[in-house]
Amino acid sequence: MRPVHIVAVCFIVANLTLAWPLVGQPAAPQAAAQGAPQTVMQEAPPSAGTPVRAGQNAPATASLEAWRGLDKLEGAIALAELNELANRWAVEGYDEPDIVLQRLDELQKGLSAAPSLAWTRVVERTRGLVAARAGREAQAQEAAGRLSQMADRDPVAAADAAMVRAMLDDQLWRTESATGHAQEADAAYARACAGGQRSGACDHRGWWQVVRLLTLRADRQGNRLEAARLQQRANELAAQVNDDVLLAWGLSSQAVLSHYLNDPEKSRREMAQAERHARKDPTGQAMIRVLMNSAVLASARNENAGSQPTLEEAVRIARNAGSIRLEAQILASLSDEFLRAGKPREALAAVERALPVMQRFNDRRNLPVMLHNGGLARVRLGQLAQGKADLESALRLWEQAKARARIEAALNESADALAAVGDVKAALEHFHRAIELREQIDSDTRDAVLGQLKERFRTEAGQRDLELAERENSLKTTRLENQTLMQRVWMLASFMLAMAAGVLVVQLRRTRHANLQLRRSEALLKVQSERDPLTGLANRRHFREALAARQDDEGDGFVGGLILLDVDHFKRINDEHGHAIGDAVLVEVAQRLAACVRAGDVACRWGGEEFLVHTPALRGEALEALALRVLGEIGNRPFKLADGREISVTMSMAYAGFPLPPHGVTLPWEQAVNLVDMALYSAKAMGRDRAVGLAATSANTTEGLARAAADFERARLEDRLTVKVTPRAATF
Ligand code: GH3
Ligand code: MG
Ligand code: MG
Repeated sequence: MRPVHIVAVCFIVANLTLAWPLVGQPAAPQAAAQGAPQTVMQEAPPSAGTPVRAGQNAPATASLEAWRGLDKLEGAIALAELNELANRWAVEGYDEPDIVLQRLDELQKGLSAAPSLAWTRVVERTRGLVAARAGREAQAQEAAGRLSQMADRDPVAAADAAMVRAMLDDQLWRTESATGHAQEADAAYARACAGGQRSGACDHRGWWQVVRLLTLRADRQGNRLEAARLQQRANELAAQVNDDVLLAWGLSSQAVLSHYLNDPEKSRREMAQAERHARKDPTGQAMIRVLMNSAVLASARNENAGSQPTLEEAVRIARNAGSIRLEAQILASLSDEFLRAGKPREALAAVERALPVMQRFNDRRNLPVMLHNGGLARVRLGQLAQGKADLESALRLWEQAKARARIEAALNESADALAAVGDVKAALEHFHRAIELREQIDSDTRDAVLGQLKERFRTEAGQRDLELAERENSLKTTRLENQTLMQRVWMLASFMLAMAAGVLVVQLRRTRHANLQLRRSEALLKVQSERDPLTGLANRRHFREALAARQDDEGDGFVGGLILLDVDHFKRINDEHGHAIGDAVLVEVAQRLAACVRAGDVACRWGGEEFLVHTPALRGEALEALALRVLGEIGNRPFKLADGREISVTMSMAYAGFPLPPHGVTLPWEQAVNLVDMALYSAKAMGRDRAVGLAATSANTTEGLARAAADFERARLEDRLTVKVTPRAATF
């Protein structure tokens, strides 16, 4: 049956999400048994160093004194005592926040000296916690803010601040924010309380609270495995401070979780353990928790009969302990059970008792549940108008909290209830609203999922695009860099090549030029070395070399014609016309001589104004003809000077053709030249301007001829040498 199922769910949720007070040291057992309904908590029996506490209506004077005393104590012991007392006040503050908050104010006002950091932290944490659980946002936030300010000097203060915020948000049903702060606090406690200190700075009960909060969240989200893991952690924290109430509570909760995780054996074991701890707690607080969870288990096991008496027993204990909020919460669960059991009257009675307490504490989580249950009860009791109004009030509160799933469940329940009492119209309306809401939720969920998918796709696609673009970009960049690099390499290579080519060309040109120059200079040198610089004719050295070479080729004797010429009275020319004119005359003589000789003949400047011609092929008459022609060429035509004047230049010459007839005697070329030189001397002596030719010799040996040459005039007179003298005038 749907309503039963939903009520059961509401019941479990309500039970699991109850804000539970921090419970301190045991109160007097007889106080619980005495059943003083208006007492917040019964006085604890005095124990060593443990201050006593007062009841609700007589503000805790003794406690105040104890706090002041603690302020003067030093070190970890004082802090541990302070924590214990603060926890007790926090317990009282759950049901009577105004009284406890006022006590805290008085305490601070009454302080003689500035309190220590740890002392202030405990006071602020207590204040924050009491305010948070009473739904007093401003006061809780202020306390959390002051704790945050201490955080840099005291790491536990940071954890406490987050814990207070988590508890406040949970109280005001700001689930997400509560979870965030709880996680923050959990991490901060883990940092500050590493090593599991039992007392001193760390308060494991604060830590326990936030882990418990995370447990409930995991359970609400259907993650029971995670819830069980977290509850296990919470239990370990409770064990560290050896807190029977927290252990009983945690173990019984774990028993519920184990049942849902299909481990009934473990569930039973845990519940038995929880009961053992609960029996050790004289305040009854632990037993209330165990009973509530037992009821949940009974409900879950479908033991209808077992659940109601269990809850009623819990209500009784809570009422006796003066825990009005707890009582109200158990009554809420009980109202569910009564509805489930078809007892609307009892359900309504439970609601009417619990509702004002929940309104007083601004219990936003349970208030709509109470209104809804009350509404259902009224509908079933026929109080339709009031019932419907209550149902709508509950819906409005849930709408404010945007608890749509709850609204849907509630609408289905109210529709069933309305249908059961015959209000078909209203029932249908509630059903339709439930259906519409379901469609809306589904559509929103679809949209949200679709949106998430789209977003993820967009993000992933965007990421892919971005990656592709980045990859492409980097590829392009690399390519461009490579291109640039290659361009540079090519440019450099081209440049180097051009440079090298340029250098090469220049070097080649230079080399070629140098070679040319060299060849030219060589040629020039050769020419210069062979030529007479003034006349351009071969010089004496070249002439000698040529004759020597020829003689080497042809043997010892010189063969061919020799003509030796000497300018007559050249000294006078120099003297009369100057040295330059003398030079010009020598040049002209050379030109006229060169014009007469043929290729193959060698004409050279033999000395100052002496010239020697060697005609390899000419002897006898041909040689004579050449000699006389040269004689005429020079002497017959006057020399034109640069200034226009003319002078007459004559020459004397001697010639001889070897071998000499008739015996064909030869001489080495030097002696042959010497012989001709002797003949030239004769020509001068005979009056100049004439040619003397050696026509024949009686000598038939070289030695004989050499002797004749050595004494030329005598040999001529003795006819050992025959000469032919031809004056120039005779050559016409
Ligand atoms: P001779 O008829 O007996 O040969 O009389 P000469 O004056 O020609 O002979 P000599 O040997 O007494 O003089 C030759 C002169 O020629 C002397 C010298 O100064 C001149 N001479 C030699 N070489 C050169 C030359 O290169 N240029 C000029 N201007 N004069 C030269
Ligand atoms: Mg001379
Ligand atoms: Mg001369």
